[in-house]
Amino acid sequence: MRIAIIGGGIAGLAAAFELEKARAAGAAVEYTLYEERPRLGGSLASETVNGAVLERGPDSFLTEKPAAAELCRELGLGGDLLPSNDAARKTYIVVRNRLVALPDGLMFLVPTKLVPTALTRLFGLRTKMRMALDLLHPPTANGHDESVAALVERHFGQEAVDRLADPLLSGIYGGDAAQLSAQTVLPRLVEMETKYGSLTRGMLAAHKKMRAHAKSSSKTQNGGAAIFTALRGGMQQLVDALVARLDPARLRAATPASAVRKTEDGWSVEAGGAAQEFDALIMAASAWAAGSLLAPVDPMLGSELGAIPYSSSITVNLIYDESKIGALPEGFGFLVPAIEGRSMLACTFSHRKFLGRTPPGKAVFRAFLGGMKREALLAESDGFLIATVRREMAAILGAKTFRAEVEPEHAQVSRWRRAMAQYAVGHRERMERIHVSVAALPGLRLAGNAYDGIGVPDCIRLGRQAARELAAAGAKTPASTL
Ligand SMILES: Cc1cc2nc3c(=O)[nH]c(=O)nc-3n(C[C@H](O)[C@H](O)[C@H](O)COP(=O)(O)OP(=O)(O)OC[C@H]3O[C@@H](n4cnc5c(N)ncnc54)[C@H](O)[C@@H]3O)c2cc1C
Repeated sequence: MRIAIIGGGIAGLAAAFELEKARAAGAAVEYTLYEERPRLGGSLASETVNGAVLERGPDSFLTEKPAAAELCRELGLGGDLLPSNDAARKTYIVVRNRLVALPDGLMFLVPTKLVPTALTRLFGLRTKMRMALDLLHPPTANGHDESVAALVERHFGQEAVDRLADPLLSGIYGGDAAQLSAQTVLPRLVEMETKYGSLTRGMLAAHKKMRAHAKSSSKTQNGGAAIFTALRGGMQQLVDALVARLDPARLRAATPASAVRKTEDGWSVEAGGAAQEFDALIMAASAWAAGSLLAPVDPMLGSELGAIPYSSSITVNLIYDESKIGALPEGFGFLVPAIEGRSMLACTFSHRKFLGRTPPGKAVFRAFLGGMKREALLAESDGFLIATVRREMAAILGAKTFRAEVEPEHAQVSRWRRAMAQYAVGHRERMERIHVSVAALPGLRLAGNAYDGIGVPDCIRLGRQAARELAAAGAKTPASTL
């Protein structure tokens, strides 16, 4: 079977790896991967500068989602998996230019510990009272999707949206709490509201169950593992290890697919001025690119894919000599709520989050800018963005810790245009319609961050699953699912 893969980000590479494995096991599978850009890996990109690992895109993945670590182990990178330094984990929210630590006991935006919630400077008295009253919230099942902001506002009030939901969602994925779907992004909270009414009671019950489960089983699933896992040499290590396992003759970098056609018994892909015939097609480009390629085949599918919103973001990495800055506050970094009116969304103290990737005496800051509310920043020059980050860090951390005029040893800007899908209100229904259209097009699979999980592990899972299904079932079997 001949399979085309369009898109050489982590989803497309994971699909290619799975097909390569099938080939090695004797399956009659051929594949060609088309990637528009000269380099493979999509958003995964890192480099080592002066001995410090700088992540341009993702810096790690969630440990509780196993697909990424599993793939790393299969590729022989098990020894390079690096847990986040959770002993030092502490995250701050910027409140009127001051850093306020997230209160202890916060789970999925829900406060579960009375004393830290009562004492935190993050919220005013009114919000704290709303949080206490949430315990009396009656079970509600409205059945409709709503935004994360609407769900959080209903339970805890607007201040919790502004100081908690908004910075957490925009600081992590450049998302907008007022647009993101509660049903898709926070399904557990929606279930808890239906069952318990109070999110706090729901979260406490879940916590109790987890503790009982951990006690009864000799080993928890993650064995008390860290929240995040990185690679010692950066995410580029994963890309390089994948590419090393693939047949170079089947990888067509700098070759955008310009058109896709459904033929009588397969697919035709036009790229680099020539058309090639395949039995099946794994579409692993972003949904908006997939939408325009698939629109001539199925206009409805094309428009559903094209309607999935994406956000753009910028990362700015700065290396400093620690002797030139003051003592940083404990922890991994801070998140900046939109109401603070700054350009930065977040800043990670990378040398603290993952130990052993920065030479002693150096500090690495990874600032995150852009997101749904500040797309215009992408048009600014590197110099402007670096100066903005330095100025805002000085204002937030204070002159004793960080002065804007102190030159970094190295500064690096990366722009990610329309790279992160946003699961907007109604995403689940949209996905149901997409599933129906895909099922009617034999041999087609979709993989990538727009469908069933935005993180690296989800993209790997979907890419591998698509490849496995096609290799096993044969392209002529109608596709049942993504
Ligand atoms: C700045 C940033 C930080 C992030 N941080 C994290 C994190 O810490 N942890 C985490 O788990 N996730 C994180 N993410 C999310 C995660 O990195 C992405 O969701 C994931 O890498 C997307 O992979 P993908 O293969 O679906 O898409 P992409 O990486 O976007 O790859 C799609 C590829 O398709 C190619 N393409 C498009 N059109 C065509 C065409 N016509 N022909 C050929 N090729 C085409 C593109 O050039 C691209 O290379 C982050 C993302 C960004 C941008």
